[in-house]
Amino acid sequence: MERDLVKLLRHAGSRDKVGMRQDGYTSLPSLQRHIGGLTEEKLRQIVRVDEKGRFSLKEIDGVLHCRATQGHSKHLGVDLNHKPATSLELAYHGTNRGAWESIKHEGLQRGRRQHIHMAQRPTEEAGIPRSSAITVIIAVDVKKANQRGVEITVSENGVVLSEGPICPCLFRSANDRSGSALDFGCRLHQ
Ligand SMILES: [Zn+2]
Repeated sequence: MERDLVKLLRHAGSRDKVGMRQDGYTSLPSLQRHIGGLTEEKLRQIVRVDEKGRFSLKEIDGVLHCRATQGHSKHLGVDLNHKPATSLELAYHGTNRGAWESIKHEGLQRGRRQHIHMAQRPTEEAGIPRSSAITVIIAVDVKKANQRGVEITVSENGVVLSEGPICPCLFRSANDRSGSALDFGCRLHQ
């Protein structure tokens, strides 16, 4: 049921179809039309026990609403009103070796997602999974990105987000898991 909730709140076919507001909130009755067996109690429990803070609840005009805090498909055009990450110096993005081969020249792109996802610290707790696939950690210079007009924001649950693209010349460093520095270079801004 939790998986259904993620799917609906992040990747619904359209906002109209599920009655989603522009800010991403969908009312409990609307959710119940699409997710069988969902009760208010169940919804509150899913949100409460979710360690990653992927959902948030809000009463709007006396009706309980829920939204995903991040990870929406681009086509939904959800505006979460995130705060700019002005106090942050670096943001970290984990990737695999294969993807790194193009990222080191092309930079980070959001692809089909609404945002590039980053973490405030290069650790598992901060959002970079200890997955064996993640072998490269990129540190993005947030101030430099902001000066370049690349907006970087922080979500309700602390995930650092950007629509990008984030050029390699905005990387401070890139390291593999053993800490060795990796080479990267921008082909656009030399
Ligand atoms: Zn560049």
